[in-house]
Amino acid sequence: MVSTRRTTKAPSSSSRPSSPSPPPASPRGRKRTPSASTILRSGTKKNGEEDIPISTGKETKNHQKHGYEFGGPIGAICITILLPLTCYFLVFACNETTGCDFIESIIGLAEKKKNFSLLMIPEKMTPVFSLESCVLFLGWIGWCVMLHALLPASIVKEGVDIISGESGGEKARFRLRYKLNGFRVFMTTAVACAVGTYFGQIQLRSLHAKFLSLLTAGCAFAFALTTFLYVASFRVNKSDKSKKKEKKTRKSDGIDNGPVVLANGGNTGNVAYDWFIGRELNPRFSNSLFDAKVFCELTPGLIGWLLLNFGFMHEQYARLGFITKSMVLVNAFQLMYVVDALWNEPAILTTMDVTTDGFGFMLVFGDLVWVPFTYSLQCRYILENNVDISLAMTAFIVIVQATGYYVFRQSNGQKNTFRTNPNDPSVRHLKSLKTKRGTNLLISGWWGIARHVNYFGDWLMAWAWCLPCGFDHVAPYFYVAYFGVLLVHRDLRDGEQCELKYGNDWKRYCDIVRFRIIPYVY
Ligand code: NDP
Repeated sequence: MVSTRRTTKAPSSSSRPSSPSPPPASPRGRKRTPSASTILRSGTKKNGEEDIPISTGKETKNHQKHGYEFGGPIGAICITILLPLTCYFLVFACNETTGCDFIESIIGLAEKKKNFSLLMIPEKMTPVFSLESCVLFLGWIGWCVMLHALLPASIVKEGVDIISGESGGEKARFRLRYKLNGFRVFMTTAVACAVGTYFGQIQLRSLHAKFLSLLTAGCAFAFALTTFLYVASFRVNKSDKSKKKEKKTRKSDGIDNGPVVLANGGNTGNVAYDWFIGRELNPRFSNSLFDAKVFCELTPGLIGWLLLNFGFMHEQYARLGFITKSMVLVNAFQLMYVVDALWNEPAILTTMDVTTDGFGFMLVFGDLVWVPFTYSLQCRYILENNVDISLAMTAFIVIVQATGYYVFRQSNGQKNTFRTNPNDPSVRHLKSLKTKRGTNLLISGWWGIARHVNYFGDWLMAWAWCLPCGFDHVAPYFYVAYFGVLLVHRDLRDGEQCELKYGNDWKRYCDIVRFRIIPYVY
């Protein structure tokens, strides 16, 4: 699936003694790459690990070595078409008008039956397109951007070292500062919704009727935003005059976002592929702390998902006069998942989405459309099929969720702490493998059990979100199936990237930690 990728020229080991708090990379926290061809220079690390020489220069020109993932340009085009179609399929093949029998829907599609469910607009939903929903969707994004800008940030933190090809194919090692206030945005939105609902100004239950047209608005927005980001990633080719002007501005506000940094994987020169993967690594405009990728990863999509869930719960209450245990469970679990992500917001900075992947259609659509509109399927299913479960089943599902959450939180927390402060008492005792790259790999604790035991915890939670839907249809199990495939694929991608980053050290690590995701199974 993945062929060769551009590689940083592997250094022999050039290291400095480690220190818990090394000096900042530059007065503004970021190093510029000299334009000389192949040279080695030291990167600056904060976590007390060894510095690594970085190769900069022309050997990595972006039109030369690059590799494709996701089946290359053809795969990227197919996925771009399939993702929105899948979102629509889930609405058309599973709703009150047509039922939720996927098999029947697919047979109907094959036989082109007249009264076939995939061609029938769900009765209780507005048409596929509505201007009102477009305004609502844009208003929602605008609300999140406004709160992000206005609310104080509890942490303005530096991310981890990002090593990437700058425009022109050079390599840069740098740290960016982030304004992280997703949890406050969530709390403010929650209070606003509660007050609005109390005074009858907000009807969350109306989100059910608008679901289909909101999906269309989201898809249109994702295509537009991706195209804007792709075009904007070429802004590096600006005149020297404007460069000087920009430099002046940076001095005045003290924030330096530096030059446009391109993602290794999304800078192949193929328009369709780069548009899909994302050409720019961390799009930032003007010298502000607004990071489009980190913002979209955590704020509008995740909180929007919760609003849809609550809307379905509200609708159930309006229809039945009570809320079923199934609905309570799924709402509570998914609320917990999102609150956890927002509370532990800095942990996003060490994930591959932030450090490695560009911000293209894959992430834009994933964050803003796929997550809210497909992850809310279970709640919508419970509403539309009036599902409830027994107390014994409820207790069993709570145990599955608690186990999954424990594994997920502990393992992610352990790696995040180790990456940001390896001397922290909670991780200092853990064994790790020294690598030539400089960033050590944990070989005991959670990361000694399996290479991605955090995925296992996440997948267990996925089961806990689907089981409350009962066993009448496979439709609500879409999430657990899709997520299993995603995690296996993600593990393979991460393994390939780690092999490129760590070379033989990664092979040594894999010999020590044999299991990929599920201990003793896979
Ligand atoms: P991980 O948090 O698993 O991070 C992978 C990175 O961790 C590697 O690239 C490597 O980076 C570092 N690493 C790997 N092994 C070790 C080790 N032994 N010791 C120290 N560092 C190591 O990546 P993801 O971003 O894929 O996942 C984060 C969480 O998000 C997961 O729990 C996942 O389940 C969840 N997730 C949820 C999704 C959803 O839709 N619900 C979608 C995707 C992810 P380096 O060495 O360069 O630091």
